[in-house]
Amino acid sequence: MQQNGIYLDYAASTPMDKRVIDAMLPYFTTDFGNPASIHRWGQRAETAVEDARESIAAIMGCSPVEIIFTSCGSESDNLAVRGLAIHAKNTRGDKHMLISPVEHDAVLQTALDLAENYGFDLELLPIDEDGRVSPNDLESRIRSDTALVSIIYANNEIGSINPITELAEICRQREVPFHTDAVQAASQLDININNLNVDLLSIGAHKFYGPKGVGALYIRSGTEVQALQTGGSQEFALRAGTQNVPLIVGMARALEITHSERDEHNHKYSRLRDHLLGALPEIIPETRITGHVSSRLPNHASFVFKGIDGNQLLGVLDAAGFGCSSGSACKTGDPVPSIVLEAIGLSPIWGLGSLRVTVGRPTQEADIHRFAQFLPDAVERLRRISA
Ligand SMILES: *Cc1c(COP(=O)(O)O)cnc(C)c1O
Repeated sequence: MQQNGIYLDYAASTPMDKRVIDAMLPYFTTDFGNPASIHRWGQRAETAVEDARESIAAIMGCSPVEIIFTSCGSESDNLAVRGLAIHAKNTRGDKHMLISPVEHDAVLQTALDLAENYGFDLELLPIDEDGRVSPNDLESRIRSDTALVSIIYANNEIGSINPITELAEICRQREVPFHTDAVQAASQLDININNLNVDLLSIGAHKFYGPKGVGALYIRSGTEVQALQTGGSQEFALRAGTQNVPLIVGMARALEITHSERDEHNHKYSRLRDHLLGALPEIIPETRITGHVSSRLPNHASFVFKGIDGNQLLGVLDAAGFGCSSGSACKTGDPVPSIVLEAIGLSPIWGLGSLRVTVGRPTQEADIHRFAQFLPDAVERLRRISA
């Protein structure tokens, strides 16, 4: 058993890889300079930032000038959606935005804010029962005044993977900028933009064994976005502020490791995931898998159990040493199914009883067996209480 219990919430955050910490350390102390300074201290910091940019660009198959460093995945999503929207409105008067209804809050709340407070016209795309957008549905909804399309690559709550290449291709043909939130996908899926065809792509380091508080946004050359944070001309004048050198170095190192070890980790993850997806609906009555059964993140298993409160289940699991999540990691006081579970058509009696189990590098097969042994009784007990 892992120290202090069994953590099964790697979609919420991951522990930092020791190699990442080692890469970062000098930039807190000896190499502390400001990358904008002319002297050697500044030059060393600038070199570190630009090496990190090159390394990330090589993995994404783009040019270093197309990578913007931000403070997190949420900021990358904001810069993409808000930045595209404001630029389109200012230059062309375009106000129509298309997003999926199962976006992370960083995209959804940003789009809602633009609609409520800045006069944008927000349209939610239809999804199937697994939360995926079909290319035909997207094609029929693009208008001449569509400012942007944003569709999540792999869903954080239910794990489903969208057909990003096909969706992006439609936008490419219609010359509409296409953004994808790849914050959850980046730890396991291909983020080479030449395969994906996207114009903008968000990542955040703490989802792939890097530090919290740092992210990046890929912006295809020629795609214009309005800066949201103004000041100095850092990050090609798209994001003012002295770069967080150690965190940027850490993110690049974390992505290199993730990229080079991806197949090996995914192989293990999918074996553990498939065990959960296969076993739990067998041993727990009235259980459904949420999200697509196969086209989903290798490390991601998610369920709903009829007639229980998912947050209560999390409490019971935590008391027994298991760290899981009920849908999105954000806590809410009032018991309503998450927006995502509602959007895929689950009634409250099902949608309230959601559980997300995500495995990671430290997860052992024995952890999963222990979990699968404990869970049926926990669900049964909660059902008896609420009955
Ligand atoms: C975690 C997450 C985010 C937010 O990233 P932060 O770096 O925590 O701000 C955005 N989108 C998805 C899909 C995520 O999983």
